[in-house]
Amino acid sequence: MTGKFDFDLFVIGAGSGGVRAARVSAQMGARVAIAEEDSFGGTCVVRGCIPKKLLVYASGFADAFEDARGYGWTIAGTRFDWPTLIANKDGEIARISGVYRSLLDHAGVGIFEDRAVLADAHTVHLTKAGHDVTAQTILVATGGYPSRDTGAEGAQVCITSDEAFHLKKFPDRIAIVGGGYIALEFAHIFHGMGSEVSLIYRGPKILRGFDEDVRDALQASMQKKGIRLVLDTVFTRCQGDGGKVRALMLSGETILADQVMLAIGRKPNTHGLGLEAAGVALKPSGHIEVDRYSRTSVPNIYAIGDVTGRLELTPVAIHEAICFARTLYGGVPTAPDHELVATAVFTRPEIGTVGLSEEKALKAGHTVDIYKTSFKPLKHTLSGRDERAMMKLVVDAKTDRVLGCHIFGPEAGEMAQLVAIALKMGATKAQFDATVAVHPTMAEELVTMRTKTATRTPG
Ligand SMILES: Cc1cc2nc3c(=O)[nH]c(=O)nc-3n(C[C@H](O)[C@H](O)[C@H](O)COP(=O)(O)OP(=O)(O)OC[C@H]3O[C@@H](n4cnc5c(N)ncnc54)[C@H](O)[C@@H]3O)c2cc1C
Repeated sequence: MTGKFDFDLFVIGAGSGGVRAARVSAQMGARVAIAEEDSFGGTCVVRGCIPKKLLVYASGFADAFEDARGYGWTIAGTRFDWPTLIANKDGEIARISGVYRSLLDHAGVGIFEDRAVLADAHTVHLTKAGHDVTAQTILVATGGYPSRDTGAEGAQVCITSDEAFHLKKFPDRIAIVGGGYIALEFAHIFHGMGSEVSLIYRGPKILRGFDEDVRDALQASMQKKGIRLVLDTVFTRCQGDGGKVRALMLSGETILADQVMLAIGRKPNTHGLGLEAAGVALKPSGHIEVDRYSRTSVPNIYAIGDVTGRLELTPVAIHEAICFARTLYGGVPTAPDHELVATAVFTRPEIGTVGLSEEKALKAGHTVDIYKTSFKPLKHTLSGRDERAMMKLVVDAKTDRVLGCHIFGPEAGEMAQLVAIALKMGATKAQFDATVAVHPTMAEELVTMRTKTATRTPG
């Protein structure tokens, strides 16, 4: 017992954020318990980043076999088997989930395989076990789930990313609704494995919020690949049709597919959590409102990760978790830093980006110098693949500081991670230029772009 409570800290949800917060807090000497109602590891491990990246790898082989021909290889008799991939992926996910659980165990964290809801500000009710546990501090790290709120009739016959990882049968034809990174990644996954893919999006251009040049490059590349983009239309109805699904658009067009997948955004897991009873305030979006230290409107209840709707990425949830533990148990109040977070979109080729887009830099009042290059990667000279890479630096014209870097090309995610260090250190364009290139690489373009493409002023 710690004082009058069973634990110092009770964490609800063992995903990326919850597991890290529980482990680090326990290592700092807190008496910690955690509840998980599903699998340890949460969205990222079980139905997000990790299984997705395994499917991305799987989907890249068809292109690799094709590209190999120009290099003298004869590739014959290739065949793709979806059930094998899914079984192997499931085995690996179960292994990683087990590792997460044992890390908690080794850190001395009390584990409840149960759904936890707040009974009041210091009491958590475990619904399966039917008993209450008290804690000085409660951390809500319950993540989110895929939205089905399309407003379309019959949307219950559609799948979401959750189900896409477990389809019994490979969909020869699939329609994906959405224009964000999850929709685009799955469009490439299924296309790479041989599906006929249609992407239905209500806007005129995919990947809202990203740099316009990156959006244009990806959109053009998808069209060239044969991923059908059905833009500027809303999907209004869906119905089963002899083992298939028929999607009807506002434009009157219908698409008959083996599956229709909704990737229209994610919602926070805040329903039925007892947040109202405890007095925890929510944002209009349903996410939990927190201050810069992740503290909710109730002083002893904190929230981190997707449920707070700040930046819905695994490393961000982990960063918020570490800051939480330092603040509460390390004696150093630490606010998470959400600036210059690098991200990737695992399309083919992929996108890696860090910092401000040209549009956001202008909106923030910067006059910007733009450096841009588009080229055919060396590998594709012999492979014959008609694919170009694009790199762009957004530079503050006054200070010469690099505000943003946007890459569309193979391994762009890996490059963005490294560029992020330079940007975080406040690197200037002159310092990029002073860095001697690694040759022959694609990344060398980042330090050899000498000719300004444009200077733009706000307004
Ligand atoms: C398809 C997909 C691909 C993604 N790809 C990437 C990527 O490439 N890179 C990246 O950085 N991010 C990616 N993400 C986002 C990433 O998965 C999330 O940002 C991250 O998992 C958030 O962590 P979290 O701890 O906030 O929540 P979660 O990981 O969602 O964990 C929450 C946990 O809480 C549990 N829970 C909920 N309610 C209760 C309750 N009442 N009691 C007990 N347990 C409860 C849930 O079962 C879950 O295990 C992806 C997400 C998806 C869906």
